[in-house]
Amino acid sequence: MYDFIVIGAGISGTSFAYKTSKYAKTLLIEAQDYDREIPVRTNIFAEHNKPFVDDVFWNDDTIFPRPFIQLNYKSEKYNGLLSSKEFGAPLGKISHTEILLQKLIDKFKDQGGITRFNENITKIVRHTDYIEVVNNKGESFTTKLLVLATGSRGFPLQKSLGFETPESYMGIYTNIYADESILNENFSFQYMFHLNHNISQNGPFFFNVGKGRIATGYLGNRESPPELREKLIRILKNYQKIQPFMKGIKWDENLPCVSGGISKHPISSFSKDRVIVLGEAAGLVTAFFYEGILCGLASAHIAATLLNSLLEGNSNFTKTELKKYDDEVARVLFTYFRNGNACEYLFYNESASSKTLWNAYTNLLNTNKTVRQYIYEAHINQDLSTHNTDYDRWVGEQLFAAIPVISKMTLWPKFLKAMSF
Ligand SMILES: Cc1cc2nc3c(=O)[nH]c(=O)nc-3n(C[C@H](O)[C@H](O)[C@H](O)COP(=O)(O)OP(=O)(O)OC[C@H]3O[C@@H](n4cnc5c(N)ncnc54)[C@H](O)[C@@H]3O)c2cc1C
Repeated sequence: MYDFIVIGAGISGTSFAYKTSKYAKTLLIEAQDYDREIPVRTNIFAEHNKPFVDDVFWNDDTIFPRPFIQLNYKSEKYNGLLSSKEFGAPLGKISHTEILLQKLIDKFKDQGGITRFNENITKIVRHTDYIEVVNNKGESFTTKLLVLATGSRGFPLQKSLGFETPESYMGIYTNIYADESILNENFSFQYMFHLNHNISQNGPFFFNVGKGRIATGYLGNRESPPELREKLIRILKNYQKIQPFMKGIKWDENLPCVSGGISKHPISSFSKDRVIVLGEAAGLVTAFFYEGILCGLASAHIAATLLNSLLEGNSNFTKTELKKYDDEVARVLFTYFRNGNACEYLFYNESASSKTLWNAYTNLLNTNKTVRQYIYEAHINQDLSTHNTDYDRWVGEQLFAAIPVISKMTLWPKFLKAMSF
């Protein structure tokens, strides 16, 4: 019998497994064949993720080969630039996340953790005082507490245990490799977040610039994988706004793309007797920028800390005891979530207004130092429960002041509502 079985070895599951293997007997199960390869991922890793990552990883330049110095919130009209150099330390780091996952797993194993890769959990059976999971080969394992860290790929399992599932969309990305000299010439920033209603009504087109490689794609639609792919190729080939960034970078139309679900909006409860849900599976992804790594790391950290004392006290891991996990996730993350919810409400959905608003917002970034400072501070804040929503409201007021009079007349109710989030 394991103390904890974790299903899913994304950022949530691996960081949870690594942390709990210091004090518990933990099994980590993953459907993908990680022994062969952990898929390449290049991510934005804001400084506010730091409290949830041990220094041994945070200070490892193979995991984080680039500092996150400048972002580009791009609209059709403007490159809205924010450079950390104006304020001090970097906005965070750029993560070669497959290396982070590999190193978390290596340490997990060193600490006595057990992995089973290339195995899909197909069934979960509740017993009176333990939980049994069954894999696609018919083998079963038992645990005192089960952790669902299945992202957007484990909804049937989640439902079978009576959990809600979050709102889920589709996203696509590809990795493109290029010499550092070309990347340095083409990209003055490490992160581009670009809204264009014709690409997606519900998410950004993005560049995450790593070392020797970029990840690019878009989030938030509900097309099929072939449609997503065809559109991504069209954008990379023809979309004028991004051609300067692709200049001199070699890629061909057969390039491998990864498409899949991306969820947001937290479900109402993350725990039941002997089961908790971490990260994206619980809808713990910020609504506007889709920061899922922050939420995966934070929920794993919070759960690993609480479960240590429960395990020591021979707990039965009742829903009442585990409710502390839900409460702490809400305390740590949900004040910050209000910013994403308000931005989502303002900038996504209706096409005409979202274009006007995003153009104005990106221009504000270039012209108003206080706006830049507030965004900078949100990136580096090491305790997001103290995120200052008054600053968000102030930025909202500046945005309202900056839009054309005719837009003010139609959009003021929308602003009023967004301010109340
Ligand atoms: C294109 C794209 C770019 C992104 N960029 C960023 C970024 O730059 N910064 C950021 O903060 N966030 C980013 N996000 C969001 C973030 O990557 C995710 O929200 C986060 O990685 C989710 O982590 P997770 O561990 O909760 O889930 P996942 O990473 O989805 O891991 C779940 C794992 O569970 C496994 N699994 C599922 N069901 C089973 C089963 N039945 N049996 C066994 N295994 C199973 C899956 O194979 C998977 O490996 C991005 C998302 C996308 C789609």
